[in-house]
Amino acid sequence: MRILLAVAALVSVVALWARQEARLKGAVFGRGPAQEAQVRELTESGELTAPSPVKVLTRDDSDWRKALKPDRYHVLREAGTERPFSGELLVEKRDGWFVCHACRLPLFKSDSKFDSHCGWPSFSEPSAFENIRTRRDLSGGMVRTEILCARCGSHLGHVFDDGPTATGLRYCVNSLSLDFNAGLAKMPPKTDTAIFAAGCFWGVEKLFYETPGVLSTTVGYTGGHTEHPSYKQVCGGNTGHAEAVEVVFDPARVTYTKLVELFFEAHDPTTLNAQGPDYGTQYRSGVFYRDQQQRKQAVEIRDKLVAKKMWSDSVVTEITPASTFWKAEDYHQKWFLTHPVTCHRPTGK
Ligand SMILES: [Zn+2]
Repeated sequence: MRILLAVAALVSVVALWARQEARLKGAVFGRGPAQEAQVRELTESGELTAPSPVKVLTRDDSDWRKALKPDRYHVLREAGTERPFSGELLVEKRDGWFVCHACRLPLFKSDSKFDSHCGWPSFSEPSAFENIRTRRDLSGGMVRTEILCARCGSHLGHVFDDGPTATGLRYCVNSLSLDFNAGLAKMPPKTDTAIFAAGCFWGVEKLFYETPGVLSTTVGYTGGHTEHPSYKQVCGGNTGHAEAVEVVFDPARVTYTKLVELFFEAHDPTTLNAQGPDYGTQYRSGVFYRDQQQRKQAVEIRDKLVAKKMWSDSVVTEITPASTFWKAEDYHQKWFLTHPVTCHRPTGK
């Protein structure tokens, strides 16, 4: 009896050791099934959570067969490849998330999708590196890197280092491995555009660029009569254009009215065709409205500031409909980032 007990104990110790070995090998070499993965999930507002541990999803093969349609099963569970140019998501261009068809883990975001002409949906990077597992794939006489869902281990496709994108990578994914979810996409803000002229555009751009709620700024020429004007032509004073700044902003964060106030407060609207040391019609003060609502608001703010006796002289600011905005030469864009900008910016008071 004692011998039997000793043998049983030895067997269980050996079994325990074997299990531990297998687990270690799995962890270190990626051969055995991992028990846990660190992944990032999607919140209801379409953002990724911090990485957190989840149990790896394991199912019996028969359950996978029941859960997946045969073509999906072949790709996801047998590392199959769908026919090139056959996938529904190849042409999907909407904003949204591409999630694992088998377990819904977010894998790729629409902004990393690009047209690789290879016949399968292609991405420059995963939305979260935690959510993708890689494995060397020597099948088909090739050496490739297979990509798998980190939570359910389903086959997605391969990653290649021939991407034309900034990452240099091309995640080539079977459409059948993915589902597209437009609903969870975090939508870009609704934007509006304002155009102002207030003298030398270098300083005016800086003012708006640094204003919270402004999404982008561009310097250029507008309000004149020549097409594709150059800086030299505009400075010559014969094009009729004013140096201006086009301001794209998020109306939920900064209103048009607020931008108009800023515009009036940051320059002297009482000096005709001049601003600080600069003279000429290209340095005139102007609001170029894009709709009647903008016109109304610009007039209201001007009148309000005049009523408050903000300036002792009359305001000469033009409030005119916007016409073509001609983008200035590249070297003028964001000039203030590389040069000290000292042109004008008087208080106007
Ligand atoms: Zn999955």
